Amino acid sequence: MRNKIVAGNWKMNMDTQETDALIGTLKGQSLPADVTVIIAPSFTNLDRANQAVKGSKITVAAQNMHQASHGAFTGEVSVDMLKSVGVDTVILGHSERRSDFGETDNIIGLKVAAAIVNGMTVIFCFGEDLSQRESGSHFSVVKKQLEKGIFDLPNSALSKVIFAYEPVWAIGTGETASPEQAQEMHAFVRKTIAERYDNALADSVSILYGGSVKPNNANEIFAGKDVDGGLIGGAALDAVGFAAIANSF
Ligand code: PEP
Repeated sequence: MRNKIVAGNWKMNMDTQETDALIGTLKGQSLPADVTVIIAPSFTNLDRANQAVKGSKITVAAQNMHQASHGAFTGEVSVDMLKSVGVDTVILGHSERRSDFGETDNIIGLKVAAAIVNGMTVIFCFGEDLSQRESGSHFSVVKKQLEKGIFDLPNSALSKVIFAYEPVWAIGTGETASPEQAQEMHAFVRKTIAERYDNALADSVSILYGGSVKPNNANEIFAGKDVDGGLIGGAALDAVGFAAIANSF
């Protein structure tokens, strides 16, 4: 059976004190035993966050990493650096990395490969923008992102990939894909994975939805049979609301 997952992408929010406070409050919430709960604080707070979640069911992910193992890449963070602070999950391909930092499908493919080779779990983000949705090319856009980012991986790697469909037009906008739109795309993604790999593997992977998920809409979105949880941005910065989302299956 595939995992139910709720992951919080904190983006460039929460200083050290705020990170401590948010984790402290989150640890005090009731979180369902059968849901994997992940938080992704900033690089500077990964180490202490990983210490702070000890003894809870919360795990810590990074928001990005560089594809090279080390070297002259000013400002970047490598997979070994993440592993050295005990972080073994990384978000890759987020639309903000694609649009604001020039990360192409090819670069993201290199990052995914480097993470997987080094034993990391990857939360792989993909999704169409508004013009692609309006022109009806959203399925082909998503298929290409999957092909370039994931489909060079061998079957054995798929257990280390969490898929996150995030329509760009719904991220941080307050506009959410309808439950039907989310389910339709998730079913397409699962079918596309089955065509590249096989049905059993496609059935086993978790596909999260991301884009303005809040405590008041999580339940209807998570009800989709191919929706295995959410990647949460803004609403992950409120511990009580984030816990409510984790309790929305
Ligand atoms: C995100 O950035 O991954 C995201 C889903 O953001 P929000 O929930 O704020 O739309």
